Amino acid sequence: YSGKTANQLLGEHIRNLYVKEYKSLPIVVKEETSVYDAICTMFLEDVGSLYVIKKEGQLSGVISRKDLLQAAMGKQDLSSVPVGVIMTRMPNIITCRPEDTLYHAALQMMRHQVDSLPVVRDFPESPGDLEIIGRISKTTIVKAFVELGQNVKM
Ligand code: ADP
Repeated sequence: YSGKTANQLLGEHIRNLYVKEYKSLPIVVKEETSVYDAICTMFLEDVGSLYVIKKEGQLSGVISRKDLLQAAMGKQDLSSVPVGVIMTRMPNIITCRPEDTLYHAALQMMRHQVDSLPVVRDFPESPGDLEIIGRISKTTIVKAFVELGQNVKM
């Protein structure tokens, strides 16, 4: 018997879950996409945040529900404002990597008070740029939490 408490074992179990096993599909729009189209995409895809990419596909920014609400409060024509002007942009984007633990991703979302993180890897052939390969959201964490609860056998 290892002498570990149930809590220690649970902690170890949690820190053994990895981003690559839990990531979901990212929903991506281009910088030139209008705020109007971004709102439509958010509804159609049923997500709370969109990731914005440059022409060649590199991660450029993040658009949240509140970013869109804020833009909608102004008097501009939403179909002529590109998301590129209202998004939170690189290098201020908090990201995670497939090999990170889910725990680390959750900690990052909590610390930075954001609802989701793009899962990234280095962009092929242009060091410094990032390619989006997935998404971790607070919903991901809730699902993993429920799964943990279901698997615990007393
Ligand atoms: P909401 O604004 O709908 O509550 P968030 O809490 O995720 O959703 O977003 C809060 C702010 O942080 C928004 O301005 C958004 O653009 C930005 N944001 C969202 N996700 C990230 C991220 N991963 N890294 C940096 N900024 C982010």
